[in-house]
Amino acid sequence: MEDQELADQTSDRKLLYRLPSTRDVEGYDSLAELALDMRTTWNHSADHIWKQLDPALWGLTHNPWVVLQTVSREKLQSNFANPVFCKDLAGLMQDRSDGVAAPAWFQQTHPQSPLTCVAYFCMEFMLSEALPIYSGGLGNVAGDQLKAASELGVPVIGVGLLYQQGYFRQVIDKDGAQQALFPYNDPGQLPITPLRRPNGEWLRLEFKLPGYSVWLRAWQVQVGRTRLFLLDSNDAANYPAHRGITSELYGGGSELRLMQELVLGIGGWKLLAELGIKPEVCHLNEGHAAFAVLERARNCMKETGHGFEAALSITRAGNLFTTHTAVAAGFDRFSPGLIEQYLGNYAEKELGITCHHLLALGRQNRDDSSEFFNMAYLAIRGSGAVNGVSRLHGEVSRHLFGSLFRRWPIDEVPIGHVTNGVHMPTWDSAAADDLWTQACGKSRWVETTEMLEQKIFSVPDVGLWQFRCAASKTLVEFVRQRLSRQLTASGAPPAAIEAAKGMLDPDALTLGFARRFATYKRPDLLLHDPERLLRLLNNPQRPVQLIMAGKAHPADEAGKDLIRKWIYFIRHTGARASVIFLGDYDMHLTEQLVQGVDVWINTPRRPWEASGTSGMKVLVNGGINLSVLDGWWAEAYTPEVGWALGDGKEHGDDPAWDAVEAEALYDLLEHEVIPEFYARDTQGIPTAWVKRMRNSMAQLTPRFSTNRVVREYTESHYLPAAAAYHKRSADNGAAGARVSDWQQALAKKWSALRFGEMTVETEGGQHAFLVHMYLNDLDPEAVRVELYADGIPGGAPVRQEMARLHQLVAAATGYAYHARLPADRPASDYTARLIPRHEEATVPLEAPEILWQR
Ligand SMILES: *Cc1c(COP(=O)(O)O)cnc(C)c1O
Repeated sequence: MEDQELADQTSDRKLLYRLPSTRDVEGYDSLAELALDMRTTWNHSADHIWKQLDPALWGLTHNPWVVLQTVSREKLQSNFANPVFCKDLAGLMQDRSDGVAAPAWFQQTHPQSPLTCVAYFCMEFMLSEALPIYSGGLGNVAGDQLKAASELGVPVIGVGLLYQQGYFRQVIDKDGAQQALFPYNDPGQLPITPLRRPNGEWLRLEFKLPGYSVWLRAWQVQVGRTRLFLLDSNDAANYPAHRGITSELYGGGSELRLMQELVLGIGGWKLLAELGIKPEVCHLNEGHAAFAVLERARNCMKETGHGFEAALSITRAGNLFTTHTAVAAGFDRFSPGLIEQYLGNYAEKELGITCHHLLALGRQNRDDSSEFFNMAYLAIRGSGAVNGVSRLHGEVSRHLFGSLFRRWPIDEVPIGHVTNGVHMPTWDSAAADDLWTQACGKSRWVETTEMLEQKIFSVPDVGLWQFRCAASKTLVEFVRQRLSRQLTASGAPPAAIEAAKGMLDPDALTLGFARRFATYKRPDLLLHDPERLLRLLNNPQRPVQLIMAGKAHPADEAGKDLIRKWIYFIRHTGARASVIFLGDYDMHLTEQLVQGVDVWINTPRRPWEASGTSGMKVLVNGGINLSVLDGWWAEAYTPEVGWALGDGKEHGDDPAWDAVEAEALYDLLEHEVIPEFYARDTQGIPTAWVKRMRNSMAQLTPRFSTNRVVREYTESHYLPAAAAYHKRSADNGAAGARVSDWQQALAKKWSALRFGEMTVETEGGQHAFLVHMYLNDLDPEAVRVELYADGIPGGAPVRQEMARLHQLVAAATGYAYHARLPADRPASDYTARLIPRHEEATVPLEAPEILWQR
């Protein structure tokens, strides 16, 4: 009997299953709490613990959760038997809970705030290389903002998608071609946990599509004090096709993208509702998430009993749309057929509107039934404020979206900007952290940063230069290791692998160029004249080395050719010793590069780089930027802090201009950058270089930190949006309903409004303007009449409201308006215009009508 049982495989498995796990080791929960908090990506106080548990695995993955899941019971128990370890851990846990409990900037500065929750929606979040659900810049912005919100105490909850394969991973094959790999993200090894209801049940959402349901699983990521919720569709109850909706980031065709955006926007808002979370503010980080405005309005319809239009008016006051795109082709557009297939039913049954009406929200011309549905248009029509991500991008966006505000002067297109930043504690090196801590204190990135400039400015030359020299050394060691590993994996000959271990010179000038290989970023600008580049690199007196990395989207053949071009240059000219291309650009590689390079080069075609963030990551580490005057650099650059390319104008993709900028780049390197780096004083310090570096660190680091960004979003957008939403939703949405009635009256009557004659009398140095206006029964309170004149060069336009005088006798709803202005400009400079007016609404964002007298 006993023998039989032993032979029985089933019970063998049972025994295995019953093996004690590490989870019941006392103290395990504390380690799990630390390991699952993304704070490990910027607060490195617990790194030594993971290293102690498994140095090799930690070094390769930087994933504390993997280390903890892999470690043996004995190892854990022996650590916990050590009082030093226990005390250390207790200190870390205390530090963590103190950090969570202490009032932060937001609680101190805005104690009576109407803001209790911002839901931050984004298609990708870059928090850690251990959670590969990002592609690049957009995810970087989202991840860094969550981290800064945590530190500043701003109540933000992130909403995103969990991808089974994330963005592709890159290998460069022996022919120099990029190969795309899709390793599976094993949820058990990602630092995430299933989101459970209080009764322990895993939260799964039923997402009804025509004819079937898609089940969405919910996950949670802890980011310090804030949380990120992720949805995925890989649920056992789904049809196979639907399990793959969240398989890849930015893969597949337009239908898959639409399904992902439905899951993100509609599913994301449903998840919040299911959890009883009621954010005042919904921040749409890029148009991908715009469907959230529909679901938010639908919820409001249910709660208030209002129709869709009124519900949208109530809720949009609390929505903020941040656009990150600098070219019209960059917006997501869906065919009317696809929208009808996926949303027709939702529009009619859930929103109570026709599909045509829904489509109109995403169209420039509401009645053009062939026009595609533009997600950015939906976001604009569903938001109470819109912003670009740099000053220049704000301007570019006003042009891009000008067609939604036809006949409004470009300056009045209602799109502002909040320039991006990066989360400095994530991107600084340990040595940079020490340097800044000594100069500015430990809490420098968790409060206001206005005092930092003075403090870091006082660090002496010697200290700064030693810090940089150590950073170069660390980078060179990292590159050697990574390159030899890369070569080993690709089957390179042993001699090449050995050679990699001695490459690069820690004392040489190191240039860094790492970014997405897209043609507008012109990664080949440096290759314009390969001979000249080689001469610059291989000058024995003043050697220069270049470290490169970057992925091209797997479907971007032109981008992949650019990678091939560089690999060819490296392998077949004399550049093998001075140029290195590292594969698989990701967050970890970025960190190493930005902490060690001397100069960060960026060469986009203006104005296609909406902001760019990689250059900001070198600031805290003492690297200097050399970049085209585009994105953030167009507002950051001054001659004391770095180098600029271009004339600050747009030249399209003119090859002649590319040639001009390539020559200018070589000239800058040859005549300014390289000589300044090698001009040493008696102690071997390049004093002019160190001065520039100090200016860059002091003036730019605080300004381009996410700390500043999140404070700016909070004060310029979140708080006003929360207040506006409260006002609109009060009294069962009465104000929202009034705004919506006003919008509908305008839309109905506007086309019949017209101006009569305008007359001017000039007397005593004043023009007196009088104009007649026919309002087609529209309440005269719903509009205002203004005199308008373009600004004199360098000045702002003149906008002078005209007073309503009296009703005209001959017309039912005709009025006379008048205004006086000093006669210092000719009367013919002025024209009258009629624009919507409502004291509770934002014009022209919520009412884009305008009528000019001439
Ligand atoms: C910072 C970062 C980016 C953004 O870089 P830009 O070139 O400024 O757009 C993209 N990818 C990774 C991995 C990054 O770390």
